[in-house]
Order: sequence, then structure tokens, then C-alpha cells
Amino acid sequence: MQVSARVRDVVGGGDDGWSLYYRARAMAAAGTPVVMLTIGDHDIKTDPSILSAMAASMSSGNLGYSPVNGAANLRAVIAERMTARVGQAVDPGQIVVTPGGQAGLFAAMMAALDPGQSCIVFDPFYATYQQTVRAASGRPILVATRPEDGFQPDIEAVRAALAPDTRAILLNSPNNPTGAVYDRQRLEALAALCAERDIWLISDEVYASQVWDGAHLSPAALPGMADRTLIVDSLSKSHAMTGSRLGWVCAPEAAAVRLADLANTTNYGVPSFIQDAAVYALSVGGDIEAAIAARYRARRDGVLRALGNGAAVGIVPPQSGMYIMLDIRKTGLSGDAFAEKLLEAEKIAVMPGESFGDAAAGHLRIALTQPEAVLVDAIRRTAAFAEGLG
Ligand code: PLP
Repeated sequence: MQVSARVRDVVGGGDDGWSLYYRARAMAAAGTPVVMLTIGDHDIKTDPSILSAMAASMSSGNLGYSPVNGAANLRAVIAERMTARVGQAVDPGQIVVTPGGQAGLFAAMMAALDPGQSCIVFDPFYATYQQTVRAASGRPILVATRPEDGFQPDIEAVRAALAPDTRAILLNSPNNPTGAVYDRQRLEALAALCAERDIWLISDEVYASQVWDGAHLSPAALPGMADRTLIVDSLSKSHAMTGSRLGWVCAPEAAAVRLADLANTTNYGVPSFIQDAAVYALSVGGDIEAAIAARYRARRDGVLRALGNGAAVGIVPPQSGMYIMLDIRKTGLSGDAFAEKLLEAEKIAVMPGESFGDAAAGHLRIALTQPEAVLVDAIRRTAAFAEGLG
């Protein structure tokens, strides 16, 4: 028996770009010490006070089914957070709690596209984006952003790429993998395009609390955009809660009602003790979020200082987030080939840029998920390795 074409096509055939990551993990499991700078999972652990809130909720017996769109008290604190972000009142009825941002992305894509319709995805992209479009029986249309433009979107390229069946633009600012924070002018131009063509904007804002240069602007804050923007967010990055799987979609109210219907058929609610921990993290948790962000900022600054203006590796300084992109095009190697050689020779595992799309070819994505001293040492060795290849 074959599974459906929809499910068969999710990955789109070929390598999913993660083979180096799995190889590095296998090496580490076999006892070879590998410096892992691959995926965006924190070395910083979930704050003990959040875990205490979770444990207290569990031991008080909060283990039954929960409302499919999220507990009312959690939706209320999320709505407050979204109100502050978009500068206009967001009602708790606009919030649908999901098991993580990825489930929010899937729900948003299902809500935006009918089968066969297309969605603009900026390249480089977060690894699941094309797959999420395909899982919703949609067709991703890639639009390249270029290192020379600081990976900001080129509006004319978007306009040229729009197809008659395009129903959504998926954007991610602050961006993974590039660290770009899209500027107001471009967001306004994208918003104007969405209004002109009557299409949705799906705005993945999971790195919104980690901005170092410039300021994050949610497109939902722009005039007329709250009605056509689906914000996806989560506590994975902001509160070091990747494993807790707590995210949400902030949508126009009528769409949120439909997203709750969809949640009936998928996750059917998120565990109550995780939601209670989220209420604590967002309302009582104080400086936890700021402290996590400060740590990534210090690491980014440390790496930039350590690299200086080295000749063999270039850098597009990230404005945000948990990653740094190194430009290794001068070595003449692809990101894939360089990353393989680096793993062999130096036992440093990084993600080849190609894992995030053709526009990141000849780059490496370094996750800042190690203490600063480890990172700085790894980055110096990576630069020296690149130098040695020249
Ligand atoms: N969006 C982006 C841009 C990400 O980088 C990630 C995770 O790395 C996600 C969404 C998914 O996050 P979550 O853990 O909330 O599902």
C-alpha cells in the first residue's frame, strides 16, 4: 500500500539537508567528542521556576483534556503579549494555542491555502518551510534573498514571482538562518502587495525577543494588516522551552474559530500542565526571557570579535537570533563540502548553508548553542581551517 501523494511529497524527494547533522550525532554517540553547532536547541535549560510551575500543575492533577484552542487564562496572557507587539488590541479569541510553533505554521498554512495553491517562501528558509507548504497540499514558490542585501527581501522579485494562484507569503523576521530583521520599508511594501493581491501574510515571529540591531516589527502592526496576518509564535526560543511544545497562532477572530476546528482534528488540545507553565513564564516569569536573549547577544558579539575581518571567511552580522552565517565562498567549496571536511578534520559540526536553500550556498550556519569560550574557539578553528584551504 502506498501512502497518499500529499504525504509522499512532503519532503520533496532527495536529501533533506540534515545528513551531516545525523552523522555528527552518530560520531558523538560512538564516543568522538564533536562540538555541535548544528540545530537551534538551547544549551540553556528551561528555568527551574518554570519547571516548578509545571510540576505543581501536574501534581495538582491537571492531566485531563484541555480546551482545544487553549486555556482561557493562557490565551489572555498571550493576547496581552500580542497587543504589545502589534500596538493594537488583540482579543484572546484571536489566539489558538498549538503544540509548538511548527504546529502553528502547519495550521496557518492549512488555513491560508486550498489544495494546489502556492505560497511565497524566502530562500534561505527555515528547514521545514517548503515541507509545511506541501503538507497543506500547497506549492512553495522560492524567492531568493541575497547576502549582499543583508538577506532582506527584494520586493520586485516577490512581485515577479507571484502566481495567479498565490494565496500567501510566509515570512520569518527575525530570520532563521540569516539573522536578518526585515526593515519597515520592505514590510510596508510586502503588506501593500498582500493587500493588492488579496493574500495572507504568515509571519513566523519565534525569534522576536532576540533582536540586537534594529527593531522587530510585526507586519500585523501595519495599517489594514491585522485582518490578513497570521502570526506564529512560541516559547521554544524565547523561554528555552523547545521540548515543552508550546506555541500559538494569532489570527483574525473568524480565522481563529476555524483554526480551533482544525485543532479538533490534530492535537486536540495542549497538555494543561504545559499551559500552566506557559502562563507562569509569560506573566510571573520576570526576566527569564531577557536573560536568555542577553546570553545569545553576548555570544554573537564574542564570535564577531573573534572573527574580526578574516580574509577566508566572510560574515553577514546577524541582527538577531541564535545563529551566525559564515560566508566561505572564497574557499571555492560548497557549504556541504566545507562542513563535511570541517567535521572530519576539526570535529566541529555546523549546518551547510545549502540545507536552507540555494540562496545560502557557500555559507555555513553556526548555532550559538555553546558557551562563549567553546564557540569562540570553534569559530577561530573554523576560520583557520578555511585559511588553510586557500
Ligand atoms: N520557526 C522557525 C524560524 C524556527 O527556527 C523554528 C525552530 O527552530 C520553528 C519555527 C519551530 O519552533 P517550535 O519549537 O516552536 O516548533
